[in-house]
Amino acid sequence: MTAFWTEADYDDHELVQFVRDPKSGLTAIIALHSTHLGPGAGGTRFWHYAEPDAAMRDALRLSRGMSYKNAMAGLPMGGGKAVILADENRTKTPEMLAAFADVVDALGGQYVTAEDVGISEADMAAVAERTQYVSGLPVEGDDAAGGDPGPFTALGIFLGIKAAVKHKLGKDGMDGVHVAIQGTGSVGGGVARLLAKDGAKLTLSDINADRCAALAKELAAECVAPEAIMSVPCDVFSPNALGAILDEEGIGSLDCKIVAGGANNQLKRLEHGPMLAERGILYAPDYVINAGGIISVTLEYLCRKDKAPCDINEVRKRIALIPGRLEQIWQESDKTGVSPDVVADKMAQELIGR
Ligand code: NAD
Repeated sequence: MTAFWTEADYDDHELVQFVRDPKSGLTAIIALHSTHLGPGAGGTRFWHYAEPDAAMRDALRLSRGMSYKNAMAGLPMGGGKAVILADENRTKTPEMLAAFADVVDALGGQYVTAEDVGISEADMAAVAERTQYVSGLPVEGDDAAGGDPGPFTALGIFLGIKAAVKHKLGKDGMDGVHVAIQGTGSVGGGVARLLAKDGAKLTLSDINADRCAALAKELAAECVAPEAIMSVPCDVFSPNALGAILDEEGIGSLDCKIVAGGANNQLKRLEHGPMLAERGILYAPDYVINAGGIISVTLEYLCRKDKAPCDINEVRKRIALIPGRLEQIWQESDKTGVSPDVVADKMAQELIGR
């Protein structure tokens, strides 16, 4: 048996729970990295892993990532994550979700779950029927926090890109600034619309060519092939699709001054942050710039828990703090010569008492 706790990814997790419910067929892992700042909050991923070890690593890395993200967003939440190990046919039954909900409930609020890859809003609503420890549930009305996190994530990224442009290019607005956007889904599409309104020049890309074309038409932008987007000469490259795109090859192909986007885990490995800095490219650490969605769903959860109304302006106020946090990271990086990703990790570790 692998001694996971001796591996770097284990990173002193407070608790890792293995779940096996033969009756429903549920196999899951719940990883709680840190509850220093509050209950471990992070979504549930439903995924077919080739090996159980891969599921374990995913849970550990994602859970630590949530600790950092929540801490840097100034939220009173720690970091946790659940993975449900799907079979090859991705069989998901109501019984499985019920068994999962009961395990979350038994943790008594130490872990607060939400949607993630493979888990729909309807799945989470089913989980919420058996436990109160769920965030990101649908909300009624336009002036309430919560619901789809995509637009809130996009708003934070838009503000972060503007801050990066100010820091690196000394420009106060986006007029004529060229941004290449990878992924035109919920987050990338939202970022594109906000940037277009502010006068940015956009080049878009998506493996869904129709989606890209429709957005390009709406915003009078241009689409390029997915394999071309990272080498488009531009001011800002904004990754809003996949993780691990910033490796030797990806970084080598970039022709931009700034990388700032919402995709999770953009750096393939730790050494790729410093590699970006060596190329003179300013990096906005992903878990800092993409925290808008978690800010919204967390406030929704906390308000529901306290039975208090939740004002969307409070969400906006907190998202507006993202540029300042990025600026603090970049200033520290400029002062010390340490790359922004490493500066951000250190700040997050301090916040969670590590
Ligand atoms: P989404 O599924 O709505 O959109 C992703 C888009 O990327 C899709 O249109 C897809 O076709 C496209 N895509 C996939 N591979 C691509 C490729 N190789 N090149 C170009 N386009 C490609 O997802 P989303 O909610 O917009 O999330 C995007 C990223 O942001 C993900 O990495 C996600 O983990 C991260 N993120 C999302 C949120 C949120 O609130 N939704 C919050 C934090 C982080």
